[in-house]
Amino acid sequence: MSVDKKLDEIFNFDKTADDCVKCGKCIPVCTIHKVNADEVTSPRGFIDLLGAYKRGHLELDKTAKDIFESCFLCTNCVDVCPKSLPTDMVIEQARADIAQKFGIAWYKKLFFLLLRHRWLNDLAFKLGWAFQTCGFKIKSDIDSMKSRFNLPMLKVDRLLPSLRKTSFLNAYPENIDNGGKRKVAIFIGCLANYNYRSIGDSLLEILDVLEIDAFLAKDQKCCGAPAYFTGDFDTVDYNAKHNIRYFESLGDDIEAIIVPEATCSAMLKIDYEHFFHDQPDWKARAKSVMSKVYMATEWLQNHTDLEKILEEKKQNTRIVTYHDPCHARKMQGVYQEPRNLISKNYKIVEMSDPNACCGFGGITMQTEKHHFAKAAGAPKAAMIEKTGADVVSAECSACRMQINASMDYSGNEKTVFKNPIELIAEALKK
Ligand code: SF4
Ligand code: SF4
Repeated sequence: MSVDKKLDEIFNFDKTADDCVKCGKCIPVCTIHKVNADEVTSPRGFIDLLGAYKRGHLELDKTAKDIFESCFLCTNCVDVCPKSLPTDMVIEQARADIAQKFGIAWYKKLFFLLLRHRWLNDLAFKLGWAFQTCGFKIKSDIDSMKSRFNLPMLKVDRLLPSLRKTSFLNAYPENIDNGGKRKVAIFIGCLANYNYRSIGDSLLEILDVLEIDAFLAKDQKCCGAPAYFTGDFDTVDYNAKHNIRYFESLGDDIEAIIVPEATCSAMLKIDYEHFFHDQPDWKARAKSVMSKVYMATEWLQNHTDLEKILEEKKQNTRIVTYHDPCHARKMQGVYQEPRNLISKNYKIVEMSDPNACCGFGGITMQTEKHHFAKAAGAPKAAMIEKTGADVVSAECSACRMQINASMDYSGNEKTVFKNPIELIAEALKK
């Protein structure tokens, strides 16, 4: 079956609903079903409702909206489904219909407006940095902050990423010459740009050791993932087309576009094609230019001598456990590469289910439905604590935000979160 045919069939909710054989294999792995054990908030429940909607038997009312906004888009169900039914993709599409009908909440609209315009985003985050201590207690050792007051959708003592004075993209020149033999572009992602800055700093340190030039691609826009998961397809269309045009304009001397973030990388490489399923020209352009996109550990492991260089460095005494972001392992098949690189200098102790979703779930889950995110995060925090690890690592800053909060709720003060890129850069210094 061609990809085009497949995508056409996928977005025919009726056909997808008919294809579900109700085997129930998806139920035990479903993140929302584990914290809200109701058939309607399960993959086959979502698919059934979408079929009914398509046939005109279900109105998209507030209850339906509430149900479709309960999916974490973790893709656990897709992974185990014998029919490979893409529940996540049909829900993303349904959320666009919901956004059309009900509109998008004002605070999400404001956030997506920032994501469209880098200068506005820079300004907002700079103001946020200046005033963050008024409403939050800063925990600079983990790039986080805790709210001092109860605010709407933000309870007192909730752990969130703190803001940096200068973003990663504004902290360096656009071209960094490390010898001129090879060159890669960096797509940094919003959380690593404004909050978890040491990821980008560490990536530059690694490229320096490897003598690979870095191009910071300063005209990049947010990949659009937060808007895609919320149904704001206008913002996705705007940002995706900008990024496609921009990446097409980069010179042939750029070998790859490397991304130390699972969600951004999956969005650029996989979701852009899905999004443009009804705009064939853009779909083809996305497919072509995004073939240069790699997760950072994936590219460093498979296209450089980094592993060999790390073998010559000292062993670190800290124990690391690795969490597999849904958008890395399940969507891009990247899970061995970060482990290969980290294991050269750190002992890895696997948690009981590294592939289980951390429970981040997107903006709606982190705001209006935070009780679900909190409940889904608790088992992950427990399995991390059980390993006794000093560090939990994942190549995803959304996972970092959620896991940091879950460990904080569970009272785990021993384990710190590091992106594998930060661990590798630390090992290279020894
Ligand atoms: S994407 Fe995750 S939360 Fe959503 S239906 Fe599938 S398993 Fe459940
Ligand atoms: S695993 Fe797939 S076919 Fe089976 S019930 Fe779930 S969605 Fe339907």
